[in-house]
Amino acid sequence: MDFSEDQIHRYARHILLPEVGGVGQARLLESKVLVIGSGGLGSPLIMYLAAAGVGTIGVIDDDRVDLSNLQRQVVHSTERIGMAKTESARLAAAAINPDVRVVAHSERLTADNALDLIGGYDIVADGSDNFATRFLVNDACRLAGKTLVSAAVLRFDGQLATFKSPGPCYRCLYPSEPPEGEVPSCAQAGVLGAMAGVMGTLQATEVLKELLGIGDSLSGSLLIVDALSISFRKIRLKPDPACALCGPVATIHDLSIHRSAVHAGG
Ligand SMILES: [Zn+2]
Repeated sequence: MDFSEDQIHRYARHILLPEVGGVGQARLLESKVLVIGSGGLGSPLIMYLAAAGVGTIGVIDDDRVDLSNLQRQVVHSTERIGMAKTESARLAAAAINPDVRVVAHSERLTADNALDLIGGYDIVADGSDNFATRFLVNDACRLAGKTLVSAAVLRFDGQLATFKSPGPCYRCLYPSEPPEGEVPSCAQAGVLGAMAGVMGTLQATEVLKELLGIGDSLSGSLLIVDALSISFRKIRLKPDPACALCGPVATIHDLSIHRSAVHAGG
């Protein structure tokens, strides 16, 4: 791949890194990343992936920009209140880097479209705000053989994990959805806006490492961040033999997607 003068200038500080170099930068420009949700986590994800020159960024979100989003969702702006979040994110990414193509998926991720959508990308970054979507994304990624980098944030706490075969999946960590109301949402319990930035930026870092194939993968670990004590803790995760997805006896009727849908969805 030949870089233009502008590209050599734009990506100079990546190209300087022996772990990235021209080869790595070219790989980023050819990469396709699907970002689930353009909210508090999706905002820094989209902005740093765009700045890094990830060539294709898919953004799935069916929501519109609301005033209450702007405390943490820094990809959006006051003048874009009411605009589809995917369009707002596209405008922000285009303003950062014209090398990047944002593909707007202004729809909900469902069991019917998940495999088709995810199948078109190299890697998936989940920053969604509900458990149903998290389980669906996990199941679709595992069935489609895609690496999933997943982050979550609530109040002053954050979690980050990378799920890829043969390592554990999200269901190894959380076997099933918690009962409605057991775990509060950010809308119910609040979140420090900057913590979404911390976790989304760490998530972008892990996505870039996976794309470049550098460093230690976070697969097999869960990073737990506590902003109040400003502590980072990494715990080991093991595949759960009873996991409906990666256990020896896959109980596929428990999954969000039936295995038959893999064939239907390609
Ligand atoms: Zn599993």
